[in-house]
Amino acid sequence: MKLIICKSCDDVVRLIHTKWRKCECGRSGGQYNDDFISATVGGDCEVIGIRNDWINAGKIKRKYPELNTIIQGEYLGDVQIHRIISSNGPKLKISIEQLDKKFNEITFNDKRKYTINVKGDKSPKTIKIPINKLGPSFNNKKTKNESIDLLKKRIIESLNKNPK
Ligand SMILES: [Zn+2]
Repeated sequence: MKLIICKSCDDVVRLIHTKWRKCECGRSGGQYNDDFISATVGGDCEVIGIRNDWINAGKIKRKYPELNTIIQGEYLGDVQIHRIISSNGPKLKISIEQLDKKFNEITFNDKRKYTINVKGDKSPKTIKIPINKLGPSFNNKKTKNESIDLLKKRIIESLNKNPK
């Protein structure tokens, strides 16, 4: 699953596909796109990813290291996070075509500007997105100025606050 962390208020928000969600201060927001894999985010936020079984897996000691990892949601070459300017959404309009078992091709049908990957590639019309049923295929998260344990605590709080 994908979560955003607002850089203004530090709120952690889990993205869902049924509605656009915003942080406490309202300066960040996001939602899964219609492919349920990629997501639109807006405002001033960081994106992180965790496996869907993250909390339960984290309780099993031998599975702890790999399953309880917090991963960077946006990185060089990333195609899953699509940034718009507004924190109010809505998500980008896309059409989806499954190319094969491994890839979807999505086409943007949206007039707004959007950027993809940390280089800020501008508004490509179509992109290929890997289909990953096991969860996000992200790079390992590099912690910034807070400890990973603290971040985990905040993620768990956020998931408990908004279970669905
Ligand atoms: Zn905020």
